[in-house]
Amino acid sequence: MSTTVGFLGLGHMGGPMAANLVRAGYRVLAFDPVPAAREQARADGAEVVDTAVAAVAESEIVLTMLPNGRVVLDVYRDILDAAKLGTLFVDCSTIDVADAQQAAELAVAAGHRALDAPVSGGVAGAAAGTLTFMVGGAETDFAAALPLFEVMGGKVVHCGGAGVGQAAKICNNMMLGISMIGLSEAIVLGEKLGLSHDKFYDVVSTASGQCWSLTSYCPVPGPVPASPANNDYRPGFATALMTKDLGLAANALRANGVDGRIGALAAEIYDRFNRTDGERDFSAIVTDVRRRSGEERP
Ligand code: NAD
Repeated sequence: MSTTVGFLGLGHMGGPMAANLVRAGYRVLAFDPVPAAREQARADGAEVVDTAVAAVAESEIVLTMLPNGRVVLDVYRDILDAAKLGTLFVDCSTIDVADAQQAAELAVAAGHRALDAPVSGGVAGAAAGTLTFMVGGAETDFAAALPLFEVMGGKVVHCGGAGVGQAAKICNNMMLGISMIGLSEAIVLGEKLGLSHDKFYDVVSTASGQCWSLTSYCPVPGPVPASPANNDYRPGFATALMTKDLGLAANALRANGVDGRIGALAAEIYDRFNRTDGERDFSAIVTDVRRRSGEERP
């Protein structure tokens, strides 16, 4: 008998992830409150059910891919009692480390098992089944969920105990946000000083300032043809999502007494940019630096 998987949250990420599980032969009981998401899941071959509770009652593993920690905790409180004892709950949403730990505690207190397993790789990675999973929780539970991660992902890392998967995700994205702002400030300074983008790239891409933000995701058009800057900053990775992740990182810095002034400032800078440009790729922050520096270039 094949494993039955409950899947809650069939949005941009959860929809294609659930579809990949169906394609791999899993029986997927799927729920989302949005009718269009349910329709798509049905077309993809999932068994769509009318409530979250109905998605978990027969499942051995329950995956959630939800907007934020409040929704994850609300959903867990609704569904935990409906699941068979020992069900493995795997939350793939990006949420606060503290919320992830609380979700795991709730699941364990109800007689179940839990992992946090946030992802990177975006909608394209979800569709292609090439996501990176960063997983927190017990080794035996990680081993039980590994076959599913391998269907939906390309790289899977067991990072540590409950909440440590979320920790890996926010540490990485905090560094990415900081490096994109730092690079953008350097590019705008170079512009003011007469340094062309091509010469900037030529020097820095092989010097000690080299970073992924420059060589894979250059925030100005030209040097890296596939970067969103060449496509009018269409995402990519939207500013709204970067703002969310930096907010989670700033919360974790505060909650853990880390003197993370640059991380906190990066969260502030993106929060302000997000109010006007949330739909644009996060590398468009270079246009914000220019605007704040009195430069005309768009
Ligand atoms: P989304 O808004 O497209 O999907 C969330 C889905 O959850 C929606 O379809 C919504 O209707 C559903 N939902 C809300 N309440 C529900 C409930 N009570 N029961 C069942 N479903 C419910 O968001 P997304 O882009 O798919 O992102 C999902 C998560 O993945 C977020 O935590 C996000 O931060 C994270 N993430 C997103 C990306 C990305 O590129 N989009 C990349 C990595 C991680």
